[in-house]
Amino acid sequence: MSNDLARMTSPEAREAMARSKVVVLPIGSIEQHGPHLPNGTDTMAAELVAAEVADRLDAVYAPFCPYGVTPIHAGHPGSVTLRRETFEALLEDVCTELIKAGAETVILVNWHEGNISSMNAVATDLQDRHDVTFIAAQACYTAQRLYREDGGELTHGGGIETLAILAYDASLVKADRAGEPTRPAGALEMDEMRRSPEVYGFITDVTELADDGWYGNPQWASVERSKDFTDVVASGVLAGIDVVVNARRIRATNESKEKK
Ligand SMILES: [Zn+2]
Repeated sequence: MSNDLARMTSPEAREAMARSKVVVLPIGSIEQHGPHLPNGTDTMAAELVAAEVADRLDAVYAPFCPYGVTPIHAGHPGSVTLRRETFEALLEDVCTELIKAGAETVILVNWHEGNISSMNAVATDLQDRHDVTFIAAQACYTAQRLYREDGGELTHGGGIETLAILAYDASLVKADRAGEPTRPAGALEMDEMRRSPEVYGFITDVTELADDGWYGNPQWASVERSKDFTDVVASGVLAGIDVVVNARRIRATNESKEKK
């Protein structure tokens, strides 16, 4: 990937930032995803989508830390959480550096729900302090919306997450260890409860969702279906980015008219 900040030389980075002024960061988590998916599922999914978004915008892809805020998986081997303060400090420092280097738009592509409130806090603080526009993309919710009609579900370790890892590196999916699809009583309702944009509750331990720490139907995902996963989800994210950019453009056009 030629637009990856980590792979560029210093002069290449200067040139890329001067040309694009847009940076895209992937944000995920390392946490247990059952016996069939890698602990880094959320980070891998975020990286896939973020890289594609950066490519299609001719933006700079800026790697971020693979860990996220995920105390709800504490005690399950393979899970490593950052404290909220640590995550926010890291994100703030990395974004501040990118802004100093010339970024005018920062796009955060996230695949882990536990990061959302911290991301929003850092984004609004930095946008308030600097001449920069932040855009947050919850790519896991974009995938949920786009695959719903096709029977795909965004559950922890379920169909959509399995699809993401098939797209990332199919050899990491241990499909035979997943067993039969599981649908613990109330699990879907608990997920809906915590994700509602209106009245919602919280879970602080993943076993409140499912005793095994994951649930869903990994068999829904297939190698065939995974082939356009990155394209489908990145296109959904890009359409959302367009909506954000257009809203600002309409307002800016009106402002300049009002001044005349
Ligand atoms: Zn996940």
